[in-house]
Amino acid sequence: MKKLIKITLLVTEDCNLNCTYCYKPYKDKKHMDLQTAISIIDKELSCEYERGLISFLGGEPFLNYKLIKQVVEYVSDRYQNVTFLAFTNGTLIKVSTAGFFE
Ligand code: SF4
Repeated sequence: MKKLIKITLLVTEDCNLNCTYCYKPYKDKKHMDLQTAISIIDKELSCEYERGLISFLGGEPFLNYKLIKQVVEYVSDRYQNVTFLAFTNGTLIKVSTAGFFE
């Protein structure tokens, strides 16, 4: 049994900021779709594990909040002991979206 399975989803290549030090200065508007995310998650979580960790990255991941919400709902319905993490610049977090991760 694997102790920890880490999954990193680059949910969008778009960002609402333009930091001079950005590691990825070009901004592509492409978003990951739900089917791609699900196929990665199902493949990775199909084995026995103790804990799962799914990280959402961008660009700014909350530009694709719809997908993040769908993924969290999908995983919560099917898998146990999975924690979620978002690497965000914080500018798009509202009370409603912040509460979703509590
Ligand atoms: S917030 Fe992050 S991804 Fe967006 S421009 Fe700044 S460094 Fe790049």
